[in-house]
Amino acid sequence: MTDATDLAARVREGDIALHELEAHTDADTAAAARRRVIESETDARLDTVGDYGIDAADAEPNIENMLGTVQIPLGVAGPLPVTGEREERKEYLPLATTEGALVASVNRGCAVIRAADGANARVTKRAMTRAPVFRVSDIVEAQAVVEWVRDSHEALAAAAEATTSHGELVEITPYAVGDSVFLRFGYDTKDAMGMNMATIATGEACEVVERETPAELVALSGNLCTDKKPAAINAVEGRGRSVTADVRIPNEVVEERLHATPEAIAEINTRKNLVGSAKAGSLGFNAQAANIVAAAFLATGQDAAQVVEGANAITTVEARDDELYASVSLASLEVGTVGGGTKLPTQSEALSVLGLRGGGDPPGTNADRLAEIIAAGALAGELSLLGALASRHLSSAHEALGR
Ligand code: NAP
Repeated sequence: MTDATDLAARVREGDIALHELEAHTDADTAAAARRRVIESETDARLDTVGDYGIDAADAEPNIENMLGTVQIPLGVAGPLPVTGEREERKEYLPLATTEGALVASVNRGCAVIRAADGANARVTKRAMTRAPVFRVSDIVEAQAVVEWVRDSHEALAAAAEATTSHGELVEITPYAVGDSVFLRFGYDTKDAMGMNMATIATGEACEVVERETPAELVALSGNLCTDKKPAAINAVEGRGRSVTADVRIPNEVVEERLHATPEAIAEINTRKNLVGSAKAGSLGFNAQAANIVAAAFLATGQDAAQVVEGANAITTVEARDDELYASVSLASLEVGTVGGGTKLPTQSEALSVLGLRGGGDPPGTNADRLAEIIAAGALAGELSLLGALASRHLSSAHEALGR
């Protein structure tokens, strides 16, 4: 710690910048020195922030100016039986959250899904997008550029795919607005969430567009992608993975486990999730999908800001003759099992609970499976909350759990 104390003193004297500490020592000592600087300049005590079980060097690609870690309680819901495209397995879904009653709620939904013999889930689209914006002189030139792009998919794919051994360009959707042209590139990024991969690949393709047409690149991201902003384009066209989970629950299971009739649950879904959300102008037509997406993202090292589009979900419920049909469709779930925060030791352990640490065989199957499980978890959360509302148990559950 002498090193940390000395280094902190040098930062305070202006000899070393706060962000330069790693150039003078190892990552853990740099974080300790930084805590001392911050403690001396604020009233904070950072003992718990500094009491972490990972090697700070492992986090270097993921954080700058590291002080330590924030610990979020990690729970588990399940088992959750989910039959996906390739697998039929019972899973324990790791959820990191500070919201009391959330894991209990998902767990209750999992019990309903188990009693109904499991959920099905399918990924229906894979396309991580990046949409650069180009300047042209007018709409006539814009139209010529759009036509050239439509005729040149092969050349653009060759340039983009030269930057990656995994990514595949699957679509380019052009949009012209006055003297701006947007090209929304969509990639199958296999087991990577793919935002870096898609950005690098699109950069190469943009060079071809600039070489072969009069269009001039203004920005590699023109916000039509759309990353980390609420946007209808993601809800309609999808981004990352579009995934649906559904379940058919015998009426007696609904009544025994959710203490409500199928008709009452279906009516709440229609009036709350569909009519209420429409009246509110919401992009999410669901009860609590963001809760499960956020907790699963934090647990497994996904990019937390992408909960914005990850929660673009529509829940449907139908009371049939002898069963309740329920589904959750997440239009833009951006998940990976390689890259980004998935490599961090605790997040990687959480992925291993699902048997999904690292790349799949064939590539893409692990991220598909993660999307299927999160969708099934969201379905469990919907069933539980709709059931609680139908049986008017919502506030009593929170009270019973003391929050
Ligand atoms: P990444 O960590 O940059 O790259 C993952 C790389 O892993 C891929 O490019 C690929 O290399 C390699 N890989 C190995 N096995 C693979 C497999 N089975 N499937 C797919 N790829 C495999 O991660 P990323 O997913 O592209 O981007 C995620 C990161 O981007 C996160 O940290 C996120 O916070 C950040 N982010 C970036 C932007 C941006 O605009 N750049 C925006 C939002 C978030 P090859 O390509 O060589 O095959």
